[in-house]
Amino acid sequence: MTIGVWILGDQLSANQAALRSVTAQNAPVILIESMQHVQARSYHRQKIVLVWSAMRHFAEELRQSGWTVEYAIAPDFDSALQDWIKTQGITELRVMQPSDRPFAQLIRSLNLPCKITLVPNNQFLWTAEEFQTWAKGRKSLVMEYFYREGRQRDQVLMEGKHPVGGTWNFDKDNRKPPKGKLNTPEPLWFEPDAITQEVIDFVKSGDFSDYGEVEPFRWGVGRSQALQVLQHFVETRLPAFGPYQDAMVTGEETLWHAMLSPYLNLGLLHPLEVIRAAEAAYHQQQLDLSSVEGFIRQVLGWREYMHGLYHYVDEDYPQRNHFNHTQPLPEFFWNADTDMNCLHQTLKQTEKIAYAHHIQRLMILSNFALIAGLSPQEVENWFHAAFIDAYDWVMQTNVIGMGQFADGGILASKPYAASANYINKMSDYCKGCCYKPTDRTGEKACPFNFFYWDFLDRHRSSLQSQGRMSFILKNLDKMPDWELAEIRERSRQWHEQSR
Ligand SMILES: Cc1cc2nc3c(=O)[nH]c(=O)nc-3n(C[C@H](O)[C@H](O)[C@H](O)COP(=O)(O)OP(=O)(O)OC[C@H]3O[C@@H](n4cnc5c(N)ncnc54)[C@H](O)[C@@H]3O)c2cc1C
Ligand code: SF4
Repeated sequence: MTIGVWILGDQLSANQAALRSVTAQNAPVILIESMQHVQARSYHRQKIVLVWSAMRHFAEELRQSGWTVEYAIAPDFDSALQDWIKTQGITELRVMQPSDRPFAQLIRSLNLPCKITLVPNNQFLWTAEEFQTWAKGRKSLVMEYFYREGRQRDQVLMEGKHPVGGTWNFDKDNRKPPKGKLNTPEPLWFEPDAITQEVIDFVKSGDFSDYGEVEPFRWGVGRSQALQVLQHFVETRLPAFGPYQDAMVTGEETLWHAMLSPYLNLGLLHPLEVIRAAEAAYHQQQLDLSSVEGFIRQVLGWREYMHGLYHYVDEDYPQRNHFNHTQPLPEFFWNADTDMNCLHQTLKQTEKIAYAHHIQRLMILSNFALIAGLSPQEVENWFHAAFIDAYDWVMQTNVIGMGQFADGGILASKPYAASANYINKMSDYCKGCCYKPTDRTGEKACPFNFFYWDFLDRHRSSLQSQGRMSFILKNLDKMPDWELAEIRERSRQWHEQSR
């Protein structure tokens, strides 16, 4: 009997469960770059470079540790596996359970001449089954309670049964608007090595997606670089991570954000080591608790919650469309050619580095899509294409659930919808814009304003059942008829002109 291990592109850890179940001496390993897979949908070209370069680096590391590694560049997964299974005489193929449902389906659909064993995934803190046990029977799946349970379960920032500092959540301290000159830390970037340069040239010359600038490519591509990014984050960004977490500043692409999601999502870093590194820095360097807790909540709370929920919800979740939004995605999402400065800046940056931070994603890109009534599935498809850290498991709940409220409130207690008022407060974008953030009617009316009120008006009856919306709906009720009529007309005209 010969066991072979197939390592998927987002399972690049020496500790991943399928590898841990065998030894270098008794099991050959395969990694596959499938052309068909990468051409099946659009990806930012830096994402393709990152994944393939990281896979190639990981294959090299395994070889150096004594593993027998086949690295296949193949038309599709099936043909590469068939050849390898035959030449190696494999009788059992082991794969760690994929994080993405479509990939699990792909594996199920393979017709291979050997047994396939799926080994439970160990890249998250909570398995899908553990999350289900937590969620079962609960009326509401509020993230905060899941987060608190995670803190207790893994004893993170705890003093016995109590949270360090006496409070679970310091979110209210972490919403400072960007005022004056901010002394932002430099991100840690890397020059491409020979392996990465080869992938860059391949992607440039091949028949791949044309979205996104492929160079300069400066992401880390292996575990040692991912660890350097983690260390750099803990030393230079974590101490002030909290206060400006929601701020957006022109030309400041990353502020104090961690930039760790690409590495976590590839398996190059494990969430627990990231959490422990932040916790250790808090204790050893007496860092500000609101910053450390704020960061740990993202990884131990939100990231695990999104993953758990993805596997908990029904398979039709990606097709949900609570508000029945059907407007097509405007072309400017692909080329940043819009006079709305907040969108232009965020989209330009995304084209350039395949990254935007959480509030840019949620309150600029996704907020606009929501209030303008774009199809949630087209929006999800675009997000999947645009970001360096995009995978099905993290995309569905973030875009369909959190961003578009298309799941009707399984995840969020109210839609993340906001007018220009929020953007003007939390960014400097409005200063460089041709629209006026204070106007909702008239020639200079900001589209975020007329779409926001149009959204509330269109969905008034459904929003009334969301308790947290009642205050804002009262303001809608007070709006004069002429103003509402103009808002409706401006929204209609905008869509007509953008076709
Ligand atoms: C519409 C939308 C789309 C998103 N798409 C993705 C995506 O494709 N891939 C992705 O990894 N994250 C996604 N997120 C979540 C979050 O925006 C990114 O994880 C974060 O911006 C990554 O940058 P960072 O590492 O600098 O994060 P930081 O802001 O520094 O946060 C630290 C870490 O917390 C984790 N985290 C925080 N919030 C979330 C969340 N909501 N879901 C999952 N992990 C979270 C990430 O691992 C991140 O690295 C999306 C959020 C929204 C609202
Ligand atoms: S005025 Fe409106 S469109 Fe312009 S940057 Fe501000 S929010 Fe965006």
